[in-house]
Amino acid sequence: MLINLQELQQHSVRFTVDIPAGQIDFDNKVTQSSVLHAEGVVELMSHSLGDIRLQGNLQVTMDAPCDRCLEPVSLPIRSPFDLVYMPASEAIEGGEEEIDEDAVEVGFYEGNGVQLNDVLREVILLALPMQLVCSESCKGICPVCGQNRNQRECACQTAAADDRWNKLKDLRAEIGQRH
Ligand SMILES: [Zn+2]
Ligand SMILES: [Zn+2]
Repeated sequence: MLINLQELQQHSVRFTVDIPAGQIDFDNKVTQSSVLHAEGVVELMSHSLGDIRLQGNLQVTMDAPCDRCLEPVSLPIRSPFDLVYMPASEAIEGGEEEIDEDAVEVGFYEGNGVQLNDVLREVILLALPMQLVCSESCKGICPVCGQNRNQRECACQTAAADDRWNKLKDLRAEIGQRH
């Protein structure tokens, strides 16, 4: 859905959308696993030539592999948003005029409007936790044997160290035998 600048010059635009998984490309390790529901209102900011303000709420469930154990993690997101998009030409001029009111995030758009899907994508990525873990106490994957340590403990760390020493001993024994 394109939020058209010409239309915004006439009146604000309300939107309610239900976007099925697959329509927004997150080109990331996260994937959308439920319908994305979003609603809100878009308006031009007063005294501006083309600053578009979007306010609303969205709800979606995203899936991502756990940073530590790689098991899939389900991330329900409910996020209000309040963003201002400025024409890209304003960014080039470097005219970073103070954004007043309570709008938080600022982006840029090209052409004659803002693609709602791009905005929602941005909101979702910003709402994701910094660390994607299945649980705070996730023990992760053993770097030696690849075992998921949440499912079963392995005894790799000590075993690996012992192994190296054994090899060295074998080598010494071999060298010793040659003399
Ligand atoms: Zn995990
Ligand atoms: Zn292991």
